[in-house]
Amino acid sequence: MSTKDYLEKDFYKVLGVPKDAGTAEIKKAYRKLAREFHPDANKGDTRAEERFKEISEAYDVLADEKRRKEYDEARALFGNGGFRPPGAGGAGGFPFDLGDLFGGGGAAGQQAGGAGGIGDLFGGLFGGRQGGRQQPPRRGQDVESEVTLNFTDAVDGATVPIRLTSSEPCRHCNGTGAAAGTMPRTCPTCSGTGQTSRNQGGFAFSEPCRDCKGRGLLVDEPCIVCHGSGRAKSARTMQVRVPAGVQDGQRIRLKGKGAPGERGGPAGDLYVVVHVRPHPVFGRKGDNLTVTAPVTFPEAVLGAEVTVPTLGGQPVTLKLPAGTKNGATLRVRGRGAARKDGTRGDLLVTVDVLVPTELQPKALEALEAYREATAAEDPRATLMQAAKGA
Ligand SMILES: [Zn+2]
Ligand SMILES: [Zn+2]
Repeated sequence: MSTKDYLEKDFYKVLGVPKDAGTAEIKKAYRKLAREFHPDANKGDTRAEERFKEISEAYDVLADEKRRKEYDEARALFGNGGFRPPGAGGAGGFPFDLGDLFGGGGAAGQQAGGAGGIGDLFGGLFGGRQGGRQQPPRRGQDVESEVTLNFTDAVDGATVPIRLTSSEPCRHCNGTGAAAGTMPRTCPTCSGTGQTSRNQGGFAFSEPCRDCKGRGLLVDEPCIVCHGSGRAKSARTMQVRVPAGVQDGQRIRLKGKGAPGERGGPAGDLYVVVHVRPHPVFGRKGDNLTVTAPVTFPEAVLGAEVTVPTLGGQPVTLKLPAGTKNGATLRVRGRGAARKDGTRGDLLVTVDVLVPTELQPKALEALEAYREATAAEDPRATLMQAAKGA
């Protein structure tokens, strides 16, 4: 009788007795039913024959105190028939890979040489429920990738292709790592936990098991495709929506776009490190864009209307106040990078007062006249005064 039988069959129901029935009650129920369905009394009736087998099987277990106890414990683990084998109407969130559990060459091999009782078998198979021996579903790994964006795409957001290499379960062996027709067995070194502990200086360290490299399983005959690792490298290209306003060096997280999970676990996340190509004209300062606007000395002194470009939009004309200093910053609202809330930052225009290196004769003449007109002023008078006073 297999473990699966224990979980699937309700022996109490077969005998029509309550779960707390005493031995005498079980015996009485069995005798009555056995008489009724005995093959001698139902010649040629295959249904009766089936029923008789069920009754005998149930009685064999329930009449034996030790086996009954093991049976009760097994069913208690899964909530009395709450267990459903694969394909029998949804595993209902059952956390283990049943193929692994019930595969003949799998974990059951662990009990070889032992007492071989069903209790031992359960200890090995389902100890995970209590002691963490069977591996639980595992979340897929996080995957990291990089992308280089144009300056404009980083400001406005863009959908870009990202090539990902990731490791996923080998399709040939369904991730078991074992050759066709074979199953991995529980690693005896770590009893399937994938971890071994080591004592050093009075402290216990837990480290990945060296024999199974932390998998908890050993493969005797490796899969010809993945050579026993159970993993396959795969490359895929994914279209990723990069939100507007990303900055150079920013790491964006795309939930659930990483490597697929194992044993029903959720997929990992994808992290994309964004690089942004510099723009020949514009710069970024947080949500704001920056641009440097050259202005002439007369514009700075007298004030002017100055037209500057915007990123991807119409140029804007701003009023340069009279007496604007070199390096001063003017703000054009709402012409910066997009923010999360849909608004935009500002365009910061830095004034760069030009110093001409070559002048046309007429301009030179005018400048010399200007010098003459301001000859009485000493531009460094305040400086000298301040230095003296200190
Ligand atoms: Zn191991
Ligand atoms: Zn494989």
